[in-house]
Amino acid sequence: MDGTALNEAVGGIVWLTGLSGAGKTTIAQAVYATLRAQGRRVELLDGDVIRTNLSKGLGFSKEDRDTNVRRVGFVCHLLARNGVVAIAAVISPYQTVRQEVRALGSPFVEVYVQAPLAVCEQRDVKGLYRRARAGLIQGFTGIDDPYEPPLAPDVVCCTDRETVAESVGKVLAAMAACGLG
Ligand code: ADP
Repeated sequence: MDGTALNEAVGGIVWLTGLSGAGKTTIAQAVYATLRAQGRRVELLDGDVIRTNLSKGLGFSKEDRDTNVRRVGFVCHLLARNGVVAIAAVISPYQTVRQEVRALGSPFVEVYVQAPLAVCEQRDVKGLYRRARAGLIQGFTGIDDPYEPPLAPDVVCCTDRETVAESVGKVLAAMAACGLG
């Protein structure tokens, strides 16, 4: 991509929401790698990483979760308006704040990364469900804290029924459909 093309690059936000273990990070990393290989400007904001720096010190109350999502959304918006595809992989359990991020005005693709709680719990990628069930973590999304599914997501990835490649293909298609392809 030459300088002119970079200047003309269309930025936007690809927002992956879903339960812990649903597959957000996996899909986000694969989409990131695909876009990188195409020479696109792309950045990945992963919830687990964000909570160790940008949102360090925040907890998991509704207020802190909302603050975390607003911060991620704000950074994504800044990147997007500079021609970057900002991919956010954050649980972002509350509909209203996800809507706020969309309303910032960047091209926005909402991806609902969906898997039944039982499947996420069985995967237990980080061992968090086991700890939540044992009472070692309070306020864990899906166990004793709410998750509000998106009302009108641009794409739904059913990760208990499709391969990672299929999920990635759906995200890329949804991006193309909203002019981010
Ligand atoms: P999250 O970021 O939502 O907490 P992760 O991406 O860390 O979830 O973990 C999801 C797990 O589900 C991984 O072990 C991944 O290999 C597995 N998985 C199976 N099928 C899919 C799919 N179609 N998309 C994403 N992940 C999948």
